Amino acid sequence: MPGVTTSDSPAAAPLAITNVTLDGVKVTVRCAAGVIAAIGSDVVAQPGDEVLDGGGMAIMPGLVNAHTHAAMTLLRGYGDDLPLMEWLQTRIWPAEASLTADDVYWGTRLAIIEMLRSGTTHFVDMYWHAPAVARAVADSGIRATVSSVFIDGGDAADGQSQRPRVLDELDQIDAAGPLVHPAVGPHAVYTVSPPSLAWLAEVADERQIPIHIHLSETEGEVADCVAAHRMRPPALLESVGMLGARTLCAHGNWLDDAELDLLATRGTTVATCPVSNLKLANGKTFDIVEGMRRGVPVGLGTDGAASNNSLDLLNDVKILALLHKHLASDPAVLPAAEALAVASGAASPLLAGHTMAPGDPADVILVRTDTPEMTPSPLPEALVYAASGSMVDTAVVGGRVVMRNREVPGTDEVMAEVRTRSDRLRKH
Ligand SMILES: [Zn+2]
Repeated sequence: MPGVTTSDSPAAAPLAITNVTLDGVKVTVRCAAGVIAAIGSDVVAQPGDEVLDGGGMAIMPGLVNAHTHAAMTLLRGYGDDLPLMEWLQTRIWPAEASLTADDVYWGTRLAIIEMLRSGTTHFVDMYWHAPAVARAVADSGIRATVSSVFIDGGDAADGQSQRPRVLDELDQIDAAGPLVHPAVGPHAVYTVSPPSLAWLAEVADERQIPIHIHLSETEGEVADCVAAHRMRPPALLESVGMLGARTLCAHGNWLDDAELDLLATRGTTVATCPVSNLKLANGKTFDIVEGMRRGVPVGLGTDGAASNNSLDLLNDVKILALLHKHLASDPAVLPAAEALAVASGAASPLLAGHTMAPGDPADVILVRTDTPEMTPSPLPEALVYAASGSMVDTAVVGGRVVMRNREVPGTDEVMAEVRTRSDRLRKH
């Protein structure tokens, strides 16, 4: 995201990843001060470097989960297979009504472990108790863009009363650490009044931070918006000054071609969440092929664990690619390298996907290539069509090793906390 600078990364000892494969060549990658400092077959570890042996593995930029509600791990598998509104009204919303900040902290910690173990090094979140999300991010060492969900139920006066809380939470998120980036999080056009949307757009502009909102997820959302405002959702966002290059819209399932052109013109990113769309039977999914053809920046999100139910982008990128080949009756659309670029955040300036070059952020993953599943295949195809997140061995964020040998510190404690808290929430 804008503001994802590497100069503010936490101090980590210089790191040398030796004997690792990049584009079929054995190299050493040195990371220092949060960035890739040097890379090549002639690069060697320096005295004082932490050395990581990358034998049997390939190195690549970490993946970017462009839309999730991380703490919904607490509600994973709760009310699966119910119709959308019944699921929300009888399971999700009652449970969320009794969520505490500590619940959100532990649920987010679990989600982060799962994301690191499947290759995500940066996620974009929207949920309740966002300062607790920010705390979990800081304690885990992953990178995240954190937004507090904002809902006023269409009542501008209610929205007005929430403004001090929003500003306070943004300050808390901002202060949580160098890998934590604040964003505003209006839930959607059907849950937030236009005056509140306009105010949040102003706040985002003043602070130069992203806006994270659900957009045109269901056909009903579009019809209701037209009935209430005589505008479709993108036009409503445009009317309140909310479409721009710092705006990230989740879903975009029911966008028409003119709306794709509008988003392309504004530089607004769409985070497609194909697995959530399929599971909740949204009837349509974002037409990423047409969107990219028209110049819309795009990313890939899992959505929350209650509607996916995993947070494994390597699983979802396969479904993304296959779904669009199927829909287009054309196996040539969204080839593996392109699909992987989308999952890496490289198809959106806002998501700040990067390459493997000196000066790029040291947000990288090591993927096992010496497994039966990965043999023998070129890497992008193996990762998109054959791999799952379980091929990811090591994750480095801001030059700091946050997972090695698939082990994330504290995992047992986090799982125990989530089990206890989840049992309590599901009794409501
Ligand atoms: Zn969502």
